Amino acid sequence: MRCRHARKLISQYIDKELSSGETKLFSAHIEACAACRLELEETKELSRMFAAAERVSAPYGFATRVLAGIEADKRPQNRLSHIFRPVLVRAAEVAFACVIVVIGFFSGRMLITDSPAPLSAAEMRSTFHLDVFESAPPDSIAGAYIGMTGVQNEK
Ligand SMILES: [Zn+2]
Repeated sequence: MRCRHARKLISQYIDKELSSGETKLFSAHIEACAACRLELEETKELSRMFAAAERVSAPYGFATRVLAGIEADKRPQNRLSHIFRPVLVRAAEVAFACVIVVIGFFSGRMLITDSPAPLSAAEMRSTFHLDVFESAPPDSIAGAYIGMTGVQNEK
């Protein structure tokens, strides 16, 4: 079996979709070929990560694109990427969470002021506090805080 053929069978091998004859040929090649063996290990790792990503309910298409990007970036001689990949995927998940937070923050900001102007520190504070104290009665500490920061006038 040639490497090219073996690589095509890797995912089927992992999913146990190969016939027993193919499995035999594939295993023999994997035994003999370190490059394909590594590829097999990496692919197994990826499928484990897909399962993990689904557990934390990251959008499947997002994870696929991230992993595809990492695959595309991988130089054959750069096997370090193999070691750092879990870190990269983790970082991608964190980045995704940050994007969601930022989108949520700015869309909330738009609703409050209709102004895309850059935020000052004070504005940023008032925006966050408005979310927290939105329904606070005016005579409470929160209400007093909103009065002090002048957020209610921005509507
Ligand atoms: Zn091979």
